[in-house]
Amino acid sequence: MSNQPGIFSSAVNLDLGGASQPAPGDAPAGAAGDDAVHDVVIVGSGPAGYTAAIYTARANLNPVLLAGSVTAGGELMNTTEVENYPGFIDGIMGPDLMNNMQQQAERFGADIRYEDVVSVALEGEVKTVTIEDGTVLKARAVIISTGSEYRKLGLEDEERLSGHGVSWCATCDGFFFKGQNIAVIGGGDSAIEEATFLTKFADKVTLIVRRDEFRASEIMRQRALDDPKIEIRWNSRVTGINGENKVESLDLVDTVTGEPSQLAVTGLFVAIGSDPRVGLVKDQLELTAENTIAVDGRTSTTSLPGVFAAGDVVDPTYRQAITAAASGCVAAVDVEHYLAALDS
Ligand SMILES: Cc1cc2nc3c(=O)[nH]c(=O)nc-3n(C[C@H](O)[C@H](O)[C@H](O)COP(=O)(O)OP(=O)(O)OC[C@H]3O[C@@H](n4cnc5c(N)ncnc54)[C@H](O)[C@@H]3O)c2cc1C
Repeated sequence: MSNQPGIFSSAVNLDLGGASQPAPGDAPAGAAGDDAVHDVVIVGSGPAGYTAAIYTARANLNPVLLAGSVTAGGELMNTTEVENYPGFIDGIMGPDLMNNMQQQAERFGADIRYEDVVSVALEGEVKTVTIEDGTVLKARAVIISTGSEYRKLGLEDEERLSGHGVSWCATCDGFFFKGQNIAVIGGGDSAIEEATFLTKFADKVTLIVRRDEFRASEIMRQRALDDPKIEIRWNSRVTGINGENKVESLDLVDTVTGEPSQLAVTGLFVAIGSDPRVGLVKDQLELTAENTIAVDGRTSTTSLPGVFAAGDVVDPTYRQAITAAASGCVAAVDVEHYLAALDS
């Protein structure tokens, strides 16, 4: 993909589509029946889930992966070019990368089902995973890799212009804004971190803060105030994003006086937080202060035996495809060791 302004990797849209799906009834070789107790069931089909499926399938554990009915492939289905996943010299389109992972997992016999999990029961030696149509899968081990969701502003043009100037990930997309004037929304540590990182590329970064102070820590506050490329707009709220095919300006309103104004920018980074998808497990697994699933050190081991977690759902910090994939590998190896110990 090109470096043209307005066309970059993080094109969030609502059409999550899905990796190419097998014909109905196409059960891969080695898949166990639904009345069987599977060795491992994986919930989630991003880089973490598919990597866990590749590894557990190659370890002859016949994984069943529940991919989601409309969101299969995870966050990278929402992007255009991914330039930072190793192994692709010229980059790769996000959906192509996820398609490759899905096919690679299926090549080794992973049973991928395009269903939403509605509940799980994770205590005891045999866990159950219930999908939307009421089917209950039993498993000796479960990997939760349900990802995390960036918070949106909820503005009408936010989705239309995502990937065309609107982004949620400076690490992913900062590179595409060389020499431009851009804005970051948010007043916390991560907003300042994003803004500071973006000054490496942009000529000017306007940090839009809703109140007259930051929520961020003192050290981060000072960093923003000292940076000559960062201008702060206090008491400001974005009410509109303008541009035909790419971001051209923002509508702002002063939260104290109510006075409207416009800001000419070609990019908008939304840094108002993200929500790990822990709804299925929040009453059963220990969570961290950041609302991610708590795991033991560098492992994927959760607070319940036989339950493992991987990817952005355990990661408040790095949240990249490569770290999610690596984490999926860790979970698969942990499952192998767990099952081997049970069987010995
Ligand atoms: C717009 C955008 C652009 C990005 N660009 C880049 C980039 O260029 N490079 C990079 O390295 N990273 C990028 N990232 C970050 C990267 O996409 C994530 O770090 C990565 O996808 C996390 O992988 P994951 O497997 O943990 O979760 P996800 O990719 O979020 O996948 C989680 C999966 O779980 C499924 N799921 C959730 N709940 C259920 C359920 N109940 N039943 C069944 N399935 C369920 C979801 O549908 C989804 O398929 C980008 C992120 C965004 C949002």
